[in-house]
Amino acid sequence: MPTKRKGANLSRDTNKSRSIRNRRAQRTEEQVQEENTGARSRANDQQRQQAHRAFVATSFLRLAFQYEPDIEYYAHSKVVIGAMDNECPYCHALKFKKEPAGMCCASGKVQLPEIETPPEPLNGLLIGTDPDSNVFLKSIRTFNSCFQRSNRNSSKY
Ligand SMILES: [Zn+2]
Repeated sequence: MPTKRKGANLSRDTNKSRSIRNRRAQRTEEQVQEENTGARSRANDQQRQQAHRAFVATSFLRLAFQYEPDIEYYAHSKVVIGAMDNECPYCHALKFKKEPAGMCCASGKVQLPEIETPPEPLNGLLIGTDPDSNVFLKSIRTFNSCFQRSNRNSSKY
């Protein structure tokens, strides 16, 4: 039989592991919860610090997956996009400062016709003059679903 080498105790049954196991077994439920809360808090702090470092850094890569509500993302210089006060001279659409000139109406090339007033009783239901308007507007998605064609058969028609 080979002699037991010093330090070859692979079962990890050492005096230290035994004392740790005994200490853990003698904990009260309150102590267990306290330790778990502490571990969770440390993990949350670490995650928050990681998000803050990513926010301070120039890269925003995967930052959305580490969102922290207490970080003021809107204050970052890369996040501020300004107000929508850039008006198109052709269609009068309001745009942000860096939006290209032709993105709304292709610099006046696209002109959409005015939207016609829907026929009655649909108009009354939409603008709220019909007594059934509240029910109609509350259930409009359901009504719309009733009249839609299913995608499975729509390619035939
Ligand atoms: Zn325009």
